[in-house]
Amino acid sequence: MTRNFSLNRCLFMTVDPVHIGTGGYRLGRVDAAIAREPGTKLPKIPGTSLHGAARHYAAYRYNKPDCAGQKGHCGNGTCPICYTFGFAKGSDAQGYAGVVSVSDARILFFPVNSMHGPVWVSTVYILREAGLKVDDMPEGTEAWTSLDKEGDINLGWLMLKSKNGLKIEDNGLLDNSEYKAIKNRLVLVDDSLFSRIVNSNLEVRTSVSIDPVTGAADEGALFTYEAIPRATFLWAEVVVDDYRDKNLWKDGGIIWKCYKEENGPDGKVKYYNNDEKGRALYPAATNGLNNGEPKGWKCAWDVVNAGLEWSEYLGIGGMGTRGFGRLRKLTDREVQV
Ligand SMILES: [Zn+2]
Repeated sequence: MTRNFSLNRCLFMTVDPVHIGTGGYRLGRVDAAIAREPGTKLPKIPGTSLHGAARHYAAYRYNKPDCAGQKGHCGNGTCPICYTFGFAKGSDAQGYAGVVSVSDARILFFPVNSMHGPVWVSTVYILREAGLKVDDMPEGTEAWTSLDKEGDINLGWLMLKSKNGLKIEDNGLLDNSEYKAIKNRLVLVDDSLFSRIVNSNLEVRTSVSIDPVTGAADEGALFTYEAIPRATFLWAEVVVDDYRDKNLWKDGGIIWKCYKEENGPDGKVKYYNNDEKGRALYPAATNGLNNGEPKGWKCAWDVVNAGLEWSEYLGIGGMGTRGFGRLRKLTDREVQV
């Protein structure tokens, strides 16, 4: 509680295909491409998308919808949303930066169809970057698996010679039922192949715009779009650098009450913090889930987490009306730095 800096590593799994567009069209084989790492061409979920979703959903959970978007924030020093994510106020450019930084979410295990059913592909390098312990690939192995079979294995269209015996040391990040379900279906490949395998096995769909007047397809309105497929595992890091010395979180999660007056003195909405008339924005830290109370959100990381948790229901990125976007946060662990 005394440390003002923390690095939190999170594991996510896509529950739907996730499409975070680049805003560009007709760049490659699809009309609407997704965001990628420039060097590896590996799809990713940009940190800005995660940050935006976390802010939005945390604001809903704290009943502070005014502070959800990119402007019109209350800017109050005791607002957990503005404190955590920062705020911008009015045209006089008044504002302040938040205390959290969210990294891109990068692929950890990517689902691919094989002759042995679905397998999840990764590389030694990627696993180590995510802080997991794994041995080097055995010499001369093209695919190193945790399957109970050896020999040829196809990853989509690509046929490789496989060897089994892969073991990944769990450091807490993998302690969840979703990982346990794929644990014996992992395949590690060489880094040079990974991007090719991922990009050949993305979800690609074709849709057509419907003319609302005729109810028929618009002329030339057929378009394709790609997405990170369902059941992809990703990891990201959230850095909390609470340079404001945690002054919001005194006494380990004191119950602050916020009273919202719709018609304040100047005719605007006004918030009164720590006002007896108000409702508790966040419960005491001593409250646990087991007594039916919500979690005690008692530091900036808890606020981010509260927002990220709702991405499982409300989704991130585009194509939401086509059933895209839900992202489940599986686990997190603080990394000692
Ligand atoms: Zn606010």
